[in-house]
Amino acid sequence: MRLILLGPPGAGKGTQAKRLEERYSISQISTGDMLRAEVKAGSPIGLEAKAIMERGDLVPDAIITAMLAARVSTPASAKGFILDGFPRTVPQAQALDQMLAEKAMPLDHVIELKVDDAALVERIAGRFTCAKCGEGYHDTFKQPAQPGVCDACGGTEFTRRADDKAETVAARLDAYHRQTSPLLPHYAAQGKLRQVDGMAEMDEVTRQIAAVLGAG
Ligand code: AMP
Repeated sequence: MRLILLGPPGAGKGTQAKRLEERYSISQISTGDMLRAEVKAGSPIGLEAKAIMERGDLVPDAIITAMLAARVSTPASAKGFILDGFPRTVPQAQALDQMLAEKAMPLDHVIELKVDDAALVERIAGRFTCAKCGEGYHDTFKQPAQPGVCDACGGTEFTRRADDKAETVAARLDAYHRQTSPLLPHYAAQGKLRQVDGMAEMDEVTRQIAAVLGAG
């Protein structure tokens, strides 16, 4: 199964992608996670991407598309994948269309998580993750059961993304509306676009996605 999760920052793409990864044994491919790893490693890509990401702008298409192409070609991707955060521009979508056509790996669905902008700033500004396993939490919506201890792995260190500050979130939302939302008609024209209610409870969103995938 090959899917794209589309939606603005904070729509829940990462959370849902992780759930789908477990349920369907396909890999989550998050270009944001890949870039954060490059930044952490201090690689040439990381050095170029760091300031762009901190501003809330998009990293150039050529860099992202090359990174994604390498990942899609790995054996782990052969069973299927969930793209989370890619594509984000029409040229990226066109490059992906071509890449998948060459590999005879068509997309099954493009799932849009529909959310109100007003909810996003609160969702994003409060989130944090376990530094050890990446489990996601939120100041208001999802604290660990035991304060300071990760529910999933028992880790005791947590991190917040540098670009989750309220000032940066506005720029990221703007980038979504200007550069990414044109992908909705792109995939609608291909008959691949499905919509789910990203404002619903997390489990309900998972149910709606499963219904789209034909798993009830
Ligand atoms: P994310 O974790 O998906 O919210 O991505 C974090 C940041 O990484 C974005 O705000 C962009 O600066 C950059 N980024 C991630 N994916 C892409 C992409 N497909 N195209 C351009 N920039 C990206």
